Amino acid sequence: MLIRNATLADGRTRDVRVSGETIDAVAPELDATDADRVVDATGKRLLPGMIDAHVHFRQPGFNHKETWETGSRSAAAGGVTTVVDQPNTDPPTIDSATFRQKLEYAAQSIVDFGINGGVTADWRPDTLLEEPLFALGEVFLADSTGEMGIEERLFVDAIDGAAAHGVPVTVHAEDASLFNLSAKERDDSDAWSAYRAARAEVAAIERACAIAADRNVGIHIAHTSTPEGIDAAAEAGMTCEVTPHHVLLSRSDITELGTFGQMNPPLRREKRRQRVYERVVDGPVDMIATDHAPHTREEKDTDVWSAPSGVPGVETALPLLLAEARRGPLTFERIRDLTAANPAEIFGLPNRGTVAEGNHADLVLVDPGTTEPIRGSELHTKCDWTPFEGRPGVFPKLTMVRGEIIYERDADEPFADHRGENVREQSVKPAEQADDGTRNGNG
Ligand SMILES: [Zn+2]
Repeated sequence: MLIRNATLADGRTRDVRVSGETIDAVAPELDATDADRVVDATGKRLLPGMIDAHVHFRQPGFNHKETWETGSRSAAAGGVTTVVDQPNTDPPTIDSATFRQKLEYAAQSIVDFGINGGVTADWRPDTLLEEPLFALGEVFLADSTGEMGIEERLFVDAIDGAAAHGVPVTVHAEDASLFNLSAKERDDSDAWSAYRAARAEVAAIERACAIAADRNVGIHIAHTSTPEGIDAAAEAGMTCEVTPHHVLLSRSDITELGTFGQMNPPLRREKRRQRVYERVVDGPVDMIATDHAPHTREEKDTDVWSAPSGVPGVETALPLLLAEARRGPLTFERIRDLTAANPAEIFGLPNRGTVAEGNHADLVLVDPGTTEPIRGSELHTKCDWTPFEGRPGVFPKLTMVRGEIIYERDADEPFADHRGENVREQSVKPAEQADDGTRNGNG
């Protein structure tokens, strides 16, 4: 296949040839003679597929909310080519048996994937850490969906065990002892944000980073929602991710969203959101990850203290960021780094994250000139709602995983019958030498 005349994230126009699973050549002009298909990408951006380090595809245990089939289709339609599933399923992924069980469900995925292992009082590190895990995490320092909050002693065991096996650790950092109990007297939707106060996140991040630094181990902070938390992680030399909902939504939106804007950690005040946005545009935030956490409308449509926490996001993350690039300071290069290059580097995924010769042909083609309103009813996740209803998005025209087009927006059958692979079980190809000074490749 030849993708002709595409504009890469850094603005250069290039032809990109794909052969088999790999990007074979990136050059100003390439011969199309033996290409089985030529895609005219004039005026379009060709980006590396998004690596979403934080999704909840709900299987096993909660198939009514999402499945690997519907979740991975939603990912593909959103330009996401690799997803990482969290352990708070039923049963949770806490030993070899439950890991193997989840691997069977993940076989339904049309995008590549990673499976995280969880830590609870019942986890079996002796068997779990022998499995091809993506990472250990998210390790819950406070209860969230699935009540997997753990004691500090167990957290220390977890990072020691992970370090001994060379497995990354990701952390859901909230300190429940700092939750604002007086908020429980309220019944308005904003009470959730008042209850899970910002200081509970900041203190938990500082504590987790101190423990990790003390043991000379790096950790990754999941869904950081405060500028203070982002700065604390960066100052400690740790990495962090931010979700699209914490970049684009704040407590000012809760009046309209109600419990459909409820997640953990919760939305923050508008001022804090703006400072998070600044840190995403050109600050210490390492990556965007969605924390795609679907629940049905029926489950969400209840009072603030009964509603489950979590919002869908895997299909709308890249479209929202690309729409932001049209109107504001967010650049295509920064989007490439936040959604692909940095997750690949930080989580040790060779041959991914940039449009470079020798890399996996995980690619997404978008037309930055066209936006469409986001409609929950048109998304492919099982829960047909979104907290971004009506906002503009730049939706992918085409998504490719390891050289196969798995999604084509304007095709009669948009989805291909493709099978994703566990990225921790894929063979590693020799890295290509970069010719233009970017980390390990071109656009
Ligand atoms: Zn979490």
